[in-house]
Amino acid sequence: MSTESAPVTKVDLEILATPHPLGDAERAQRMQNPAFGRVFTEHMVVIPYAADRGWLRGQIRPYAPITLDPAAMVLHYGQAIFEGFKAYRQPDGRIKTFRPEANARRFNSSARRLAMPEMPVDLFVGAVDALIRQDRAWVPSPVGESLYVRPLMFATEAALGVRASRDYDFLVIASPAGAYFPQGVKPVTVWISEDFVRAAPGGTGAAKFAGNYAASLLAQMNAAAEGCAQVVWLDAVQRSVVEEMGGMNIFFVYEERGRPVIVTPELTGTLLPGITRDSIIQLARDFGYAAEERRVTFDEWRAAVREGRMTEAFACGTAAVITPIGAVKSREGTFSIHNNETGPVATRFREALLDIQHGLAPDRHGWMHDV
Ligand code: PMP
Repeated sequence: MSTESAPVTKVDLEILATPHPLGDAERAQRMQNPAFGRVFTEHMVVIPYAADRGWLRGQIRPYAPITLDPAAMVLHYGQAIFEGFKAYRQPDGRIKTFRPEANARRFNSSARRLAMPEMPVDLFVGAVDALIRQDRAWVPSPVGESLYVRPLMFATEAALGVRASRDYDFLVIASPAGAYFPQGVKPVTVWISEDFVRAAPGGTGAAKFAGNYAASLLAQMNAAAEGCAQVVWLDAVQRSVVEEMGGMNIFFVYEERGRPVIVTPELTGTLLPGITRDSIIQLARDFGYAAEERRVTFDEWRAAVREGRMTEAFACGTAAVITPIGAVKSREGTFSIHNNETGPVATRFREALLDIQHGLAPDRHGWMHDV
């Protein structure tokens, strides 16, 4: 996949546009209520990396299958990381992404953990911007809809010795995302996984590493068999501390003297440092709520709900922004939160984030990035 050239740190892509661009009607039809991650735009970014030459000049080229050597190290030893964030159409027609530099930094921290090369933040953000500009017609306008971008990197060297690959490809693909809750926000029931562990101290839990997701699928299937939408992971050592959900971080809302206090598990190295999580902590301070990052055990969760001290719980992430947790199921039984209805604190954060992302409220924290 490589093109001969000097190492690059800023984006400089050769553009090979598709010779068969879709017409407006065909594109509009593909963008109609797409299932998550099933429809892709017409182009992709490919930037190769070679140990002895660094990041090489990449391309924007028509979206298409890629060719890999059967001995490519990603297929054997699994060096594969990714990111996910969104581009939003603004009221004036421009396009902005939400905190892409934060995703670039998290991508580099994932890369370090997996012994993969880091990528200059300008190159990461510039490559995503270039793809969005190329496929700008694919960014939807309605509030709640967006273009989801998926940067990824994997090991391409053909060799079976167990060690870090010397060669990698960085790709960016993009997929129009419809409203996550087209029928209105609905709380989910979650399953406390007591049989499986997602991440252990010293492991890969804080990285957006493909293997973490592979290891979660069986637990997710068990949750579905229990009628639950998502798994809640407990820590690996005490098996009692709540860490995060399948693809989202968790928040608990306590009420103290009539004021909300929001609490989220602290970043111990075994959960993913979500960008939505970080944004909610900052917004909470804007709202005058107290925000705490600390340990919360499953026993505390259950007791605080029973005693009326915890009024809401919700999950957050790029895909759904905020999902209220209406009920919690474990081997011992089920309890519900806020009558299994969406609470006011979850609603307030959800609306505040969506308004900033869609350019309907001032961007006080400088989160939005002009594409
Ligand atoms: N935890 C996990 C395991 C995830 O996959 C995600 C989605 N990236 C999150 C939390 C939420 O992160 P973010 O807010 O950056 O989307």
